[in-house]
Amino acid sequence: MSEAKLPPVYDPAAVETDRYNFWLKQDYFKAARDEARIPYTIVIPPPNVTGSLHMGHALNNTIQDVLIRWKRMQGLDTLWLPGCDHAGIATQNVVEKHLAEEGVNKDDLGRDRFLEKVWEWKDTYHARITKQLYRLGVSCDWSRERFTMDEGCSMAVRKVFVDLYRKGLIYRGDYLINWCPRCHTALSDIEVEHEDETSTLTHIRYPLEDGSGSITVATTRPETMLGDTAVAVNPEDSRYQKLVGKKVILPLLNRLIPIVADDYVDPSFGSGAVKVTPGHDINDFAIGRRHNLEIISIIDEDAKMTAAAGPYAGLDRYDCRKKVVADLEALGLVEAIREHEHSLGHCQRCSTVVEPLVSRQWFVKMTPLAKPALAAVEDGSTQFVPPRFTRIYQNWLENIRDWCISRQLWWGHRIPAWYCACGEMVVDYEEPLNCPACGGKVAQDPDVLDTWFSSALWPFSTLGWPEKTADLEHFYPTSVLVTAYDIIFFWVARMMFMSLEFMGEVPFHTVYITGLVRDPLGRKMSKSLGNGIDPLEIIEKYGTDTLRFTLVTGQAPGNDQRFRQESVEAGRNFANKIWNASRFVLMNLSDQEEAAIDFAPYDPEVMLPGLNRIDRWILHRYNETVRQTNNLLEEYELGEAARLIYEFIWNDFCDWYVELSKYFLYRKDQPAAEEDRNRTRAVLAYVLDGVMRLLHPFMPFISEEIWQQLPNRREEALIVASWPEPLEKHLFPQEAAEMQLVQEVARAIRNLRSQIQLPPGKKAAVIVRAGGETARCLQEESHQLARLAFAEPLTVEPDALKPKQSLTAIIGDGLELFLPLEGIIDVEAEIGRLEKEFLQVQAEKKKTDGKLKSDGFIKKAPPEVIAKEEARREEQAARLTKLEQRLRELK
Ligand SMILES: [Zn+2]
Ligand SMILES: [Zn+2]
Repeated sequence: MSEAKLPPVYDPAAVETDRYNFWLKQDYFKAARDEARIPYTIVIPPPNVTGSLHMGHALNNTIQDVLIRWKRMQGLDTLWLPGCDHAGIATQNVVEKHLAEEGVNKDDLGRDRFLEKVWEWKDTYHARITKQLYRLGVSCDWSRERFTMDEGCSMAVRKVFVDLYRKGLIYRGDYLINWCPRCHTALSDIEVEHEDETSTLTHIRYPLEDGSGSITVATTRPETMLGDTAVAVNPEDSRYQKLVGKKVILPLLNRLIPIVADDYVDPSFGSGAVKVTPGHDINDFAIGRRHNLEIISIIDEDAKMTAAAGPYAGLDRYDCRKKVVADLEALGLVEAIREHEHSLGHCQRCSTVVEPLVSRQWFVKMTPLAKPALAAVEDGSTQFVPPRFTRIYQNWLENIRDWCISRQLWWGHRIPAWYCACGEMVVDYEEPLNCPACGGKVAQDPDVLDTWFSSALWPFSTLGWPEKTADLEHFYPTSVLVTAYDIIFFWVARMMFMSLEFMGEVPFHTVYITGLVRDPLGRKMSKSLGNGIDPLEIIEKYGTDTLRFTLVTGQAPGNDQRFRQESVEAGRNFANKIWNASRFVLMNLSDQEEAAIDFAPYDPEVMLPGLNRIDRWILHRYNETVRQTNNLLEEYELGEAARLIYEFIWNDFCDWYVELSKYFLYRKDQPAAEEDRNRTRAVLAYVLDGVMRLLHPFMPFISEEIWQQLPNRREEALIVASWPEPLEKHLFPQEAAEMQLVQEVARAIRNLRSQIQLPPGKKAAVIVRAGGETARCLQEESHQLARLAFAEPLTVEPDALKPKQSLTAIIGDGLELFLPLEGIIDVEAEIGRLEKEFLQVQAEKKKTDGKLKSDGFIKKAPPEVIAKEEARREEQAARLTKLEQRLRELK
């Protein structure tokens, strides 16, 4: 036997970087754009350029890489297009914070200088996240990498904006928007996070103008009363019907405001009358529109009271709240203040309480765009995996409001609208030289677009749209989008309607939804909890393949997973097991004396006739694994597929076939020894080659490393080798069933031996009661049973009788095993030992029984302690039964 080419211990660090560079150098990731082949395209969910790789990315990118590697091996023309997102508000916040640490304010720098700083940041961080993705082993086509603010993507953004504007689908309007007084920008509905809070509900009396009494309204935000322009009641509410159309005097400011009737008001809530503040509440804004009410803005962009708040002008909104309540109390107009649970909106980025403000913003008109996006999912053009996420998508689009797309930021795509002092506005692809109406100077809108505006174009802007590129022609629409469920609204739905509008086709046929990676206790990983696990640390310590395997086997589409240390260790053990078994096989393949053999393994036809039962069994099992793996991958059950491959490699291949093969590899005495050896080597090589192929998408590094050592390879690298398909002629169901029987017998014998603590290697006779085919098969494999279970001699007889003093195992119908004890152990001593053990367990059980009968224990002990005792009692009872049975067998 010659030196193995694999080192004795698997060292991921020694393999991974070199392998990745090898793939890169050979251009294996690069899409061919071969018109003759079926394309398979994935566009990466672009990570934030200033972000760093977290477990969510690791999972998401591993899944994409598994799919891409699988399809590449199947021979499809695969493109996995990578890129980053400029992440408007997130990036601007990070850079602002960083500058603040240096005592620099963005307004002091000015727009241009500030943007230069952000671009510098972008370059640094982009290099970092790219390196991190390399470590994960992703096989993206880096030659086609994009950035949402690169020239092409920016051109696409401008084209979409102008075209939608010209179609009347983008407009500018006054609207009540969510405003963050800290970030100084508008937030879309989904950028607002709602949290339940306990606050107070203040009941305020508004006196009627005619002096005939008052009407009571309740509010969680008393300061907003300063902006009230009506009181509303339900038209069906008999208490108030006669008051509708009358006026009340708004306390503190003494304005007269009307009482209106509106269906929105819930008569059972509070007094049944509500104050209406169209300037600072989204529902009131809607009531205001219906009743043509005046809009008064009493809070400004810094969350301070405006001049319209009269004597309260200049106060912070919360200081104003206290003062308003105090003043109302002094006037005797506060009827009650009660505790109240309600949900409050916070800025997703900085947690500041959002202030609804009326503001002039840009909007996308959603109803006409939502319709085709709903239809495309309805008719199955795009399908969600798992399908339950379809409902979430539909609900959102069915209830969608217009999308506020302008943001008061500097970092992003600037809105292509120019204004002139004369009142003219120009929206165009290019900056106008001067005002088309008066020839005067124009100035561009200072705002930028919501970061999701450019992400919405990602599936086609990255392929070269609006140019009609060959890539766009060949690779669009993409095949599958892999994304987390928390961005179905932000991103998936928007890519759908933008793609349908501009490409006339869905952006992807399948949306694979991933769950979150949580900590071992099931909590979200977060900075504030400090429970995050850095994927790069895991890679450092255990290797990339182990991390990938742990993440994939831990997940099922759409479900969250808990990331456990034990699973990582199991993944590492698996990598070691593969390595060791492969070393063994490779050592036997590289036998110098036999160098001339053609391992036609790769040509199963040649070896088929000479295969024995064990060879046929492993080929059958391998073939079944291939078939099931393919089915599971087609159904996007990646985790199940990985587990199946694990089972096959660990159990069938390593624990059984490799062990069984030793008999044929090493026996020298028989005339057919050499033929046996060569055939066995061929099967070992064939199956090892096959499992490395199956394993490759999941554990690309270790599989490529091992596969490269196989003799007589016909392909240059595993990453571009062909994917296994099931072969009809490799189905040997009869041999598979027979081997299963041999395995069961071997396990049963081992089990019996362990009952009497026989050390491995100590031979013991076994008598089997079996007839017919079963008997023939066991007899033929007796040499293996002798090796695997030290069953020597093995006697198989159709009417064997149970010897006196022997252990018994029954396997299925008519198959019984006996392990005679005479001469193997000192039966009398064993009986003594078992009797002693029996008495001991009996005494323990008595104690447990007593505990469970005692009132004191049952009443005082917590339920989990009682459950534990009950489990103990059951276990003790089971042990007693077993001991009894064994004693019977011995006597
Ligand atoms: Zn904020
Ligand atoms: Zn003008």
